[in-house]
Amino acid sequence: MTEDLFRGDAYLQTCEARVVRIDDSGIVLDRTVFYPLAGGQAGDSGALQLADGREVTIADTRKAKDAEGQPTGEIVHLPAPDQAELIASLQPGDTVTARIDWTRRHKLMRFHTATHLLCHLVPQPVNGCSITPEYARLDFHMTEPLDKEALTAGLARLIDAAHPLVVGAITDAELDANPALVKSMSVQPPRGTGTVRTIRIGGEVEGEAQIDFQPCGGTHVANTSEIGAVVVTKIEKKSANSRRVVLGWAA
Ligand SMILES: [Zn+2]
Repeated sequence: MTEDLFRGDAYLQTCEARVVRIDDSGIVLDRTVFYPLAGGQAGDSGALQLADGREVTIADTRKAKDAEGQPTGEIVHLPAPDQAELIASLQPGDTVTARIDWTRRHKLMRFHTATHLLCHLVPQPVNGCSITPEYARLDFHMTEPLDKEALTAGLARLIDAAHPLVVGAITDAELDANPALVKSMSVQPPRGTGTVRTIRIGGEVEGEAQIDFQPCGGTHVANTSEIGAVVVTKIEKKSANSRRVVLGWAA
């Protein structure tokens, strides 16, 4: 089990960690700030600095899976292809400093929070999601057309309103009693610990309406104002009952 430090603090950029395992799949540490690909959010890249100062470049991060495809709780750091020589000098038990590419991760956090705002503007089930540093897209299960300019304006309004985000948790039983909380048809919230992490936007101030509340294991900014200027770059009719909304950074 890798201790996932990004869950408690999405703003952590580095941590000291011990090497647990090195194999063909990658490098497993006892704790990490690297977010593994999940819930549509891309895995982190960055570097592991060795005690002698040399750095192993990490290209991507994934959840380890067993033979049945079930997550084992370990997080695997995938080295860049040209790092074999450096990795050969790594041993289990070695101490490294893990450091994520923060510029890239911060873009992922800003886009991820923006997709939750989009869930408020388009209250339809989500059947696909991809969050990358360059763009984010959400597929909504719906037949009605969507307006690009109206959505961009709606996002700008919610971002300007500077709503704080609150990370919380509900029990599996509470989630089972409120299935409508799960907005995604394609991604089920991670279970197994008895509680499911939640992200709430708005509704913390007395009398203020809640904007969005959903189970989510991703990394988010602390306030919607931190998202900055995003635009809806494209709306596609993916199928008869699916509309794809693509977000990009404002030029
Ligand atoms: Zn999310």
